[in-house]
Amino acid sequence: MPDTTLPDLTTYDAVLFDLDGVLTPTAEVHMHAWRAMFEQLFAQWDIEPPYTDQDYFDHLDGKRRYDGVAALLRSRDVEIPWGEPGDDPSADTVCGIGNRKNVVFSRVLAEEGIAPYPGSIALLDALDRVGTPVAVVSSSKNAQDVLAAAGILDRFPVIVDGLLAERDDLPSKPAPDVFLAGAAQLGVSAGRSAAVEDAVSGVASAAAGRFGLVVGVDRGAGAAALTAAGAHIVVTDLAELVASATR
Ligand SMILES: [Mg+2]
Repeated sequence: MPDTTLPDLTTYDAVLFDLDGVLTPTAEVHMHAWRAMFEQLFAQWDIEPPYTDQDYFDHLDGKRRYDGVAALLRSRDVEIPWGEPGDDPSADTVCGIGNRKNVVFSRVLAEEGIAPYPGSIALLDALDRVGTPVAVVSSSKNAQDVLAAAGILDRFPVIVDGLLAERDDLPSKPAPDVFLAGAAQLGVSAGRSAAVEDAVSGVASAAAGRFGLVVGVDRGAGAAALTAAGAHIVVTDLAELVASATR
């Protein structure tokens, strides 16, 4: 029985989607890549306590790679030079370690590919049928590769990703800048648009941007945390929003 109390996303001027964990289950690939990389690093540097998946949710999820690396190391009282985005993946800098993780991620993505969430595709189809503009707003520098691997790159005329954020010096989620940049590129106002996010920092970013509707997708962060960060509604799958978008 569809929940008809859920909002109709086609009534908004645009819908801006986070990518990892919202459109594609990339979070799993990211979590595995982070875990493999940090377990090795922690062992090499004798860092305690050991890395756990909770570290992913606390320090890494939804953030730009380098900000995540710095936050996680800071949680273990480890300070290292920031370095440069062009640092070699072998460099013991924040940027080098971030680049190291990306090598692992790219290898897994290339080897295994990625299937988008069926419910997310169903919602994109429903929005497409009535011509609601959509965009991707992702902190990832791999957004184009992930969208292409998932076969949905051509659905998004506007993509705000980690490469664009770096080029334009946009602060990381939870700052609102990346979502606002997406709305600006679409030519819509945030207040009349919807944003869809699965990370606490991403929900906080959209809420700070005063989006008309902030949808939290609970893929593990927890409904209470997403609501506390500013989500107006929380669903566990975007398929839940298809019925109200097609009625
Ligand atoms: Mg996400």
